[in-house]
Amino acid sequence: VRRRTILQLLQKRGSIAVSDLTKRFGVSRMTIHRDLDVLVQQGLAQKRHGWVELAATRWVELAATPAPATAGSARCMMCQSEIPERTQFTLQLENGERLQACCPHCGLMMLSHRTGVQSALARDFLYGRILNALEAFYVVESRIATCCAPSVLCFHDAASAADFQRGFGGSVLNYHETIAFLKQRHNPVLAAH
Ligand SMILES: [Zn+2]
Ligand SMILES: [Zn+2]
Repeated sequence: VRRRTILQLLQKRGSIAVSDLTKRFGVSRMTIHRDLDVLVQQGLAQKRHGWVELAATRWVELAATPAPATAGSARCMMCQSEIPERTQFTLQLENGERLQACCPHCGLMMLSHRTGVQSALARDFLYGRILNALEAFYVVESRIATCCAPSVLCFHDAASAADFQRGFGGSVLNYHETIAFLKQRHNPVLAAH
């Protein structure tokens, strides 16, 4: 049961300090490490410097598993366009529903309008890796227009976003800045108040 709870926490937060887990469950570090070793052996988690994180393959599985609620409709929840694999954006809700968007533009708009979101997964535009959308970086208004305007592309870290920005223009923003940027674009009057 404890291992399942740890896994759920990881799916929600991406990574957790081992010390957080010992406090949360009131057990020794050794007990927690035994639990984590099982998760690591099952390929579900990785341990790193006193932290445990969800295995990258697990993010991929999470994003790739079609949600019952959206099965059969691989269309963006926001704009109804088809979902290109490269810019796919997925919200996992606490009630088990999974919502898909065509790109971070739609995905972040969807995220900012939802409550009960368990995790938000975006795909790195360069490497295709599945990322926690809240910790990712975004290049907005670059010359690479995918489906929606203004174009918003997702990157694993600020450095690769900056590399891309040097080549293709636009601005590098973090998650909060990107949400603010999109709100401003969609409703300049409301955002100003
Ligand atoms: Zn869309
Ligand atoms: Zn789009």
